[in-house]
Amino acid sequence: MNHTFFRYFKTFFVLALLFGAENTIYGQDSLKVVVAKKGDGILSLLRKQGIDPYDHYDDFIAMNVDNLRDSIHLYAGRKYLIPPVELDTVEVVETIQKNSTKIKKIEGEDFAIFGKKHATVLEKSERLKGNVYYLVSGHGGPDPGAMAKYGNQMIAEDEYAYDITLRLAKELMSHGAFVYIIIRDENDGIRDERVLKIDHDEVAYPNKTIPLNQVARLKQRVEIVNELYRENRGKYQRLIVTHVDSRSRGQNIDVFFYHHEKSKNGKKLAESIHKTFQEKYKKFQPNRIYSGTFEDRSSLYLVKKTHPAMTFIEIGNIRSKKDQRRILDPDNRQALAKWISEGVILDYEK
Ligand SMILES: [Zn+2]
Repeated sequence: MNHTFFRYFKTFFVLALLFGAENTIYGQDSLKVVVAKKGDGILSLLRKQGIDPYDHYDDFIAMNVDNLRDSIHLYAGRKYLIPPVELDTVEVVETIQKNSTKIKKIEGEDFAIFGKKHATVLEKSERLKGNVYYLVSGHGGPDPGAMAKYGNQMIAEDEYAYDITLRLAKELMSHGAFVYIIIRDENDGIRDERVLKIDHDEVAYPNKTIPLNQVARLKQRVEIVNELYRENRGKYQRLIVTHVDSRSRGQNIDVFFYHHEKSKNGKKLAESIHKTFQEKYKKFQPNRIYSGTFEDRSSLYLVKKTHPAMTFIEIGNIRSKKDQRRILDPDNRQALAKWISEGVILDYEK
């Protein structure tokens, strides 16, 4: 957020305070400070303040970056600045109505696929306007992908890959991109739970049953993407495939980005996202990300057969206890999606 912008909201808030006699929660300053409790994440902390955590996540990070572990974790017992709420959220409209000042809500567009709570996509910029992105989350339908036990419950790769993919879709759309969510589940939406319930009703765009047979399943995805690619000929098009099963077993690497060895644009996309992650990790774990080509496994089929330039992302290993800590936390899934989206923007603008 640039400075003028920020000051504008600060000014606005001071005005709101002047008009709202019964508003006591903000004290003398326009910025509220709260102390993180044990177990608090950024999302839950903001939610408790009645703020839409997704709209204000970036501001929160920007304002508190020196006070966060790995750029995304709170320290219990420390103080955090709460971003001033902007004009375009339901919450601020409610706050303002309480303060008997009337300001119109700026409309976002609603997309049911993100679920009721996350349906509204607000426009942040037009940086990706006119671009087309195909997002494929790994597995789905009859195939849950890698599975693991968490406590006494089972968790499955496809649900986590899908959640991150939806969050990524929403980010890209907020910058004006046209996004095809290729593997889709009409009733899951973006979920803020740690344990995501396993179901098998995912379909392939627009509404195709996903076959159980692995080759048939991959072939179906390839055909759908390539058909859409033809329809969108002439536009800037990219494909991002997301999995949560890492081949990194035994290596201390969190995230892998793969690309086709012969695709210059695919390489550039993978490297742009890689670079973004590197920046985010810089202070902490610079060596825990990797990008390059890969030779093995049937996933290569997708890399080789799809026409748009693409990157294949593997976010941790759902069976690793260490990775579970990252993947099960909805704050982390949001941060991962956000970082991927920043890499995508970097790729396009570079
Ligand atoms: Zn997988």
